[in-house]
Amino acid sequence: MKKEFSINNFVRENVKGLKPYSSARDEYISDGSKMVFLDANENPYENGVNRYPDPQQRGLKAVLAAQKGVEPQHILLGNGSDEVLDLLFRAFCEPKEDNVISLPPTYGMYKVLSAINNIENREVLLTPDFQPDVDAILQQVDIHTKMIFLCSPNNPTGNSFSSDIIKELLECFQGLVVIDEAYIDFSSDTSWTTRLAEYPNLIVTQTLSKAYGMAGIRLGICVASSEIINVVNKIKPPYNVNELTQQKAFERVKALDLVEKEVGDILAGKKELLKVLKEISFIEKVYASDANFVLAKVDNADTRYQELLSKGIVVRNRTTQPLCENTLRFTIGTKEENEQLIAVLRMLSKE
Ligand code: PMP
Repeated sequence: MKKEFSINNFVRENVKGLKPYSSARDEYISDGSKMVFLDANENPYENGVNRYPDPQQRGLKAVLAAQKGVEPQHILLGNGSDEVLDLLFRAFCEPKEDNVISLPPTYGMYKVLSAINNIENREVLLTPDFQPDVDAILQQVDIHTKMIFLCSPNNPTGNSFSSDIIKELLECFQGLVVIDEAYIDFSSDTSWTTRLAEYPNLIVTQTLSKAYGMAGIRLGICVASSEIINVVNKIKPPYNVNELTQQKAFERVKALDLVEKEVGDILAGKKELLKVLKEISFIEKVYASDANFVLAKVDNADTRYQELLSKGIVVRNRTTQPLCENTLRFTIGTKEENEQLIAVLRMLSKE
C-alpha cells in the first residue's frame, strides 16, 4: 500500500528555499482597464509583441483546462514538452546524487536530460512485447530514485502501455511517475490526466507538437497536482511561453474540430499504410501502433533507409535502439505523401 505522499520530500533543497523572480507582469495583473504601462521597460510603440507575454498564460490555460477536464492550477506550460521534462529534473533531482529510471527503447530525451542535469539514468529494457517490466524496474529503485519515465503511446514502438502495469507502478513506486502522453491524441485510450485525484505522484506531459500540428510554436503541457505544479512554477523562466505561441496555441486549441478532423485523416492514412506494409517483401514485421507513426522490421534497415532517402523519402532508422534491430519508423503523412511512400516501397519490393 502506498505510504503518505508529500511532494516536499522530493523537492531539491535549493528549490525549496528559492524565492522566485517576480516579474513586472506578476506584480501588476491587468484587469483589462486602460492603464499606462511604465513598469517593464518595454518599448511603448505597439507592434503586436512589444509587451511581455502573460507569464502564467491564463487565457490559454483556461481553454486547455476546460478541454482536459482539469483545473488551470493543475497545468504548467513550457517551451515544448522538452522544456517541461527538463524543469522536472531541475525541480526534483539532485545532481550526482539522485537517479531516474527510463525504459528503452523509448524517447531519447529522458537520457539526454539526465546527462545534462548530471543525474544517473537507470535503464530497464521493455519486455519483448514492449511493455514495462515492473519487477525489473522495482529492483532498480533505491532511496535516490526520484522519477520513472513512461512514454505511452511509446516512441518509437508505437504501442500504449497496459493500464494495469502503469497502475502498479503508480502504486508500488514511492517517487514520481511521469507519463509522457505526446501521442495520446492518436490513441483511443483515456488520458491519465483523468486520474490525478487518485495518484498524488502522477505527472502527465502532453504537447501541441503532434496531433495539434504545432511543432513549430513549441508548446508543452504538464498536468499534475497543484502542489507539484507550484514547485515547477517556481523555477520556470518567467516568460517561457512567448506571446506568438500563446496566441497561435489559443486559436488552435479553440478549433478542436479541425484538429480532430486531421487526426481522423492521419489515422485513416495509418490504416491504409499498415495494410500495404504487410505486403512488402522486405518488411518482416509491422508493430501495432496507437500513435501517428508505425515501426516496421525490415531485412536491412541501413540499406532500406538509404534506398528510401535516394527516392526522396526521409524516415527514421531506429536500428541502433535496443529491441529495435533493423527497424524503420514511418510517420504518417498527408494522403499524397503516404501514396508516394507506398509507391516507392512497392517499387523497392519488386527489385
Ligand atoms: N515526448 C515524446 C515521446 C516525443 O516523441 C517528443 C517529440 N518527438 C517529445 C516528447 C517532445 O515534444 P515537444 O515538441 O513538445 O518538445
